[in-house]
Amino acid sequence: MTKVSRSARHFDGETLVIASHNQGKVREITALLAPFRVDAISSGALGLPEPEETGTTFIANAELKARAAAIGARLPALSDDSGLVVPALDGAPGLYSARWAGPAKDFNLAMARVERELRARGLAPSGQKAHFVCALSLAWPDGHCESFEGIIQGGLVFPPRGDQGFGYDPIFIAEDHAITFGEMHPDAKHAISHRARAFALLIEACFDGKP
Ligand code: IMP
Repeated sequence: MTKVSRSARHFDGETLVIASHNQGKVREITALLAPFRVDAISSGALGLPEPEETGTTFIANAELKARAAAIGARLPALSDDSGLVVPALDGAPGLYSARWAGPAKDFNLAMARVERELRARGLAPSGQKAHFVCALSLAWPDGHCESFEGIIQGGLVFPPRGDQGFGYDPIFIAEDHAITFGEMHPDAKHAISHRARAFALLIEACFDGKP
């Protein structure tokens, strides 16, 4: 886990825009925000466009999405840029995790591609090390941004297992666990995930650490 900013600006508003059109992320961030007295509204519901993700790091992409939403909505906005990193694939899909699912956002295709690319390198897909990264950025309409990163280490399993969660959850088993994120109850995933870890840092720095 990396805390990127040092002296953080506090969030003291009532409404927070969740700068994402990804329903899975909006659902998880809304659940994580539930104990804090915040009205969360997604940028999709506000009709804000999704900016192009031109950054070269998770944090850079999170910041550009949060800033665009905060400026567009004139409200503080929280964004998430995240992905699955497979070291044996030189870090892929990484920043391109969403794009591997194609225009139809079909994660069965994306998971099959991870398996295929590992096999193409002569590697056994199941048991390969992998980690999820989540960068969260909280931006204000004046462009100020606070950013935090969380990581969860684990490994891959094929075929995919479970229908909870979203994205690559069915092929990811967190370290010291036996079931995939796709098989876990959402509360169990929220207790350990990359997103929960980044969120804990955000809460500590920008929400005084308490509801
Ligand atoms: P982006 O941050 O919008 O570029 O998309 C990140 C992509 O990474 C998502 O569409 C998912 O495919 C994947 N991803 C991020 N977090 C998770 C997670 O918690 N579970 C499964 N897949 C995830």
